[in-house]
Amino acid sequence: MKRGDFVIEYWGPVITDEAAEKKGGKYLFDIMDSPWTIDGSIRANIARYINHSCKPNCEPVVDGKRIFIYAKRGIKPGEELTYDYGKDYFDDHIGKRCRCGHH
Ligand SMILES: [Zn+2]
Repeated sequence: MKRGDFVIEYWGPVITDEAAEKKGGKYLFDIMDSPWTIDGSIRANIARYINHSCKPNCEPVVDGKRIFIYAKRGIKPGEELTYDYGKDYFDDHIGKRCRCGHH
């Protein structure tokens, strides 16, 4: 894939940040500067298998209440897809346990 190519949509029900906080779990994508969160825990959301990296090869782009993952640089076949989950998620769920290989 080339830089800027569309990879996949991070897809799931749109819920409020409040509901997301109650629900908890790992597959919640908080849309910054909005009261909305995508609940990506459903299996049909293949994008939920994309791991975090501090130096990722993909990046999420928010369009309204939808999240599209794009290639941030060229990606070879078989290369693992990653994106940066963001500071809040990192601090809450990853921190020193980050296994992205860039520490
Ligand atoms: Zn890392």
